[in-house]
Amino acid sequence: MLLTTIFSAFAAEYGPTIEGDFVVAESTEVSDTGAVGCSDQSLHDGILLPDLPLFFTRSQPDHTWGSREMVELLVDTARHMRWLMPDASPITMGEISRQRGGELSGHKTHRGGIDADVGIYLTGARQQAGMFVDPGPSQFDVEANWALISAMLDTGRVDMILLDHAHISRLKSYVLRAGLLSEEEAAQIFVGEGKGSYRAVGVIRHAPAHRDHLHVRVLCPDGSRASLR
Ligand SMILES: [Zn+2]
Repeated sequence: MLLTTIFSAFAAEYGPTIEGDFVVAESTEVSDTGAVGCSDQSLHDGILLPDLPLFFTRSQPDHTWGSREMVELLVDTARHMRWLMPDASPITMGEISRQRGGELSGHKTHRGGIDADVGIYLTGARQQAGMFVDPGPSQFDVEANWALISAMLDTGRVDMILLDHAHISRLKSYVLRAGLLSEEEAAQIFVGEGKGSYRAVGVIRHAPAHRDHLHVRVLCPDGSRASLR
C-alpha cells in the first residue's frame, strides 16, 4: 500500500512529545484512498512510551517505541489501573519495538510498534519491577489481571491478546463465576484451553511461552488489522 506520511516540522526536528496527560501525535499515515492503516514490519514516527514511574517500570526503554495507538492504549490502561487499584504495582513493561521498528531479537513480531509485552499480576496485584514472573497456578491474581485486560479491551483498540491457556481458563472461570460476562460473551472473547492459536477467532488467545506476560496487539487507526505473518 502506498503511504504518504504527513509530518509536522516540529516532529521532524524534535520527535514526538507528551504534553500533560496527552500523547501528541505529530504524524499520521494516510493511504491514497484516505484510509489510515499501519505496518507490522516497520515503525514510522513512533512514540516512546513515556517515563511514568507510577504507571510503568521498563527494563529496556529504548525498545518501548510504539505507534500512537499502542502508546495511548498502554497509558490509558495504566491510568485506569491506578484509579481502580491504587495499591497495585506499576505495570512491568517488556519490549514494544525499536524506534524505527524492524526485526527485534527474540521476537517474531514487535516490528511495527503495534505489539507490546506486558507483565501480569501476582497475588496482591503485585508485579516485579522490570522483570516478568510466572505466577504459577496459585499466584495468578485473577481479579487484577482481568481488570488489566478489560481496561485494554475497553479502549476498543485491541486486535488480540496472547496468553497461556491455563491463565485464560482462570480468567474465563472468574468472569463467569463473578457474573461479569455471559457464557456467550465469554465464548466470543476467550480462545484457549489448548485449542486456540494466535490465528484463531477471539480476542484472547493461547500462545506458548506466555505464562509470565501477555502480548497485546493493537488495531490500526482505521480499525483494520495489520497483516499477520
Ligand atoms: Zn510479544
